[in-house]
Amino acid sequence: MMETQKFISVILPLKLEWEPCYSLPEDTYEICVGQRVKVRFAFKEYIGVVSAVGITPEIAVERIQSIVSIEEGLEKILPEEIELWRKVAEYYLCTSGEVYKAAYPSGKVNLEEARAAAISRTMLRRERLLEGMREKIRRLEERLEKKEAMTARTREGTKARLMHTEGSEKLRKEINMAKEALAAAESSRETGTQTASYQGISESGIVLNNAQKEAYDRICEGFGNGKPVLLHGVTGSGKTEIYIKLAQKTIAEGRNVLYLVPEIALSRQLEERLNVHFGGKVITYHSGESAARRRAAAEDVRSHTDEGRSGYIVLGTRSSLFLPHHDLGLIVVDEEHDSSYKQDSPAPRYNGRDTALMLSTIHGSNIILGSATPSLEELYNCSIGKHTLVRLEERYHAGESAGVMIIDTKAERRKKGMEGNFSRKLISLIRETLSKGEQVMILRSRRAWAPVLQCDECGKIVRCPHCNVSLSYHKDEKGGFIACHYCGFRSSYSDSCTSCGGHLKNLGAGTQRIEEEASRLFPEAVVARLDSDATQNKTYESKIIRAFSKGEIDILVGTQMVTKGFDFSNLTLVAAIAADTLLGLQDFRADEKALQVLEQFRGRCGRRGRRGLFIIQTSQPDHPVYSRLSSGNIGMACTELMSERQEFGYPPYTRIVEVILKDTDEKRLTVMSSRLADELSGITDRMKDNPVEGPYMPVTDKIADQHIRAIRISLPKDRNLKKRKQKILNVVHKFEKDRRYDGHITINVDPV
Ligand code: ADP
Ligand code: ZN
Repeated sequence: MMETQKFISVILPLKLEWEPCYSLPEDTYEICVGQRVKVRFAFKEYIGVVSAVGITPEIAVERIQSIVSIEEGLEKILPEEIELWRKVAEYYLCTSGEVYKAAYPSGKVNLEEARAAAISRTMLRRERLLEGMREKIRRLEERLEKKEAMTARTREGTKARLMHTEGSEKLRKEINMAKEALAAAESSRETGTQTASYQGISESGIVLNNAQKEAYDRICEGFGNGKPVLLHGVTGSGKTEIYIKLAQKTIAEGRNVLYLVPEIALSRQLEERLNVHFGGKVITYHSGESAARRRAAAEDVRSHTDEGRSGYIVLGTRSSLFLPHHDLGLIVVDEEHDSSYKQDSPAPRYNGRDTALMLSTIHGSNIILGSATPSLEELYNCSIGKHTLVRLEERYHAGESAGVMIIDTKAERRKKGMEGNFSRKLISLIRETLSKGEQVMILRSRRAWAPVLQCDECGKIVRCPHCNVSLSYHKDEKGGFIACHYCGFRSSYSDSCTSCGGHLKNLGAGTQRIEEEASRLFPEAVVARLDSDATQNKTYESKIIRAFSKGEIDILVGTQMVTKGFDFSNLTLVAAIAADTLLGLQDFRADEKALQVLEQFRGRCGRRGRRGLFIIQTSQPDHPVYSRLSSGNIGMACTELMSERQEFGYPPYTRIVEVILKDTDEKRLTVMSSRLADELSGITDRMKDNPVEGPYMPVTDKIADQHIRAIRISLPKDRNLKKRKQKILNVVHKFEKDRRYDGHITINVDPV
């Protein structure tokens, strides 16, 4: 081996700003970038990824450790994967190691090791089994030989001779059977596992209507200019069909497709739809999948590399961006506006949509982002000509989008027009819908039975002992429990106040209570619920969705989950109950988000030419979000929101970097956060306005015993952006080190 090859740098699955250097043992024949190695770092062993070979060490050669071993059994990381990690780390101000860890969770590394071991064990076991079978055949053949010899020795025509011949016959049969079994076992070893192959898939099965065709052509034109495309199409306009057509074309050309969705729940229905067009060979992938299934998906994708086979399609959530992709021809980002694309914790705090854009530049692939309610970020990109905007304004099954009816719950209450959480108007409209054999969906953005419990006597609200939030009351067969939706704290329910013994009353209603009221109000209807409590169990979730699309459920009550992407043909009435909780967030994005959720929800109904109705029950009927929604002109609403953002200097006109501090000691936190805010103000001196806001207390200022403070920095989108972001990172690192405040600070770029 050449001397220069002796030193390598390695990416470790850690929050480490640098890539440590290691030496290779003398006898190492060859090593290349992407290979995995076991190394020791700070007295622990890690599986790292070789990021460079033949480097010149920056420290004294004597201080460089040798690697522990080369992990031949583990898959090699592709250069494109490492490139993506680096881009994500740079953009989101984290480390490549943190991205590596997210892409290859340690469980997965261990599993791969375990798998290597399991394979050799299996091979051993199989070898023993085969050997056993051969041995059995040998013994049978020996016995047959003896039997035949005996037959020869016995006189012809005797009874003994007949018995010997019969015995020989039986043995021969047994031997034949054993030989067949052996042949089968041997060939099964040779075939191994089979991977998806898409031979014979062509652009067929989908006939686009004129509007779709035009959009399709414009999309291809946009791709031709090398630009990402934003497909802004009303719900039900047939965006999905266009994606499928584009995907078919890509696969027919021998390249691969990544189809991203914001959430698992969404992928189920889509999976079935895609499988129809891709011969049941869609590879689905999301972080909720079992480790074994995720690994299988990764192997499936990788095997296309290994064997140079073409044309896979992955349907997955943001984590599927980190599969060993190669030769991607198309990336689809469905429902691009959805904030579920953003990862909150841990690092990398990346947005799947924006990371998809990075991935597309690495692979030189086409990328289409689609939504009925595009993010202002994307509309901005189109307005400055960075992306191409393509519109699709007609619904496929002709028909207008659902009409909006706003019901003022305060006024109804005064008129005694409410029964529990349902207004009489809503009740009669639901009855009418049910009587026509059509379906209803109800949105309530809080889960549990009651989101708040308050003492009748002393007015105290029951709070989580670890978080600054109220506890929710959940009903169950055993009398119910109270739970914290932030830290998971649970306790059994009692209806008396722990401070004064007074009676606790339930305030507000969550999905569970709405479901209960609906069952009582509409006894003839089948009512079900879809929220994260109900869907802890994955099969239950898909069961509900399937039952609803088959018409086995009449009324489905749920959280935001029900607003997303589903296509139910018999759904004609959707209602949002206590819609105001959507507006209540103290956040400059609140109106945009509320508008998106409500518009998406409206889009679920009246999808087969029948006009649907969208009812909103609210105590703030004059809120601009509702008037924007009723006006039916989302484009106009977006323009208005956009000029507000410009006026106040919010994204997409600026970029936000949020620095979050957490500490169990609130006093120390207060001191530390103001110091850090001061230091951060220092770096942006030369900017016109001070862009540093805070430290301030977020709406929920304590979670799991950690007090929280936030500092928000708005940066202009100019050519100094990258430099300024890097400066923020440097200040934070220096602060952590100088003040020994490690482990308390996180940085979130582009919070949503
Ligand atoms: P979107 O994704 O824009 O909400 P979909 O792709 O789900 O819209 O289309 C709405 C409905 O119209 C679906 O039931 C879909 O099957 C149907 N549809 C859309 N385009 C076509 C087409 N070209 N041929 C047949 N059916 C279509
Ligand atoms: Zn809690």
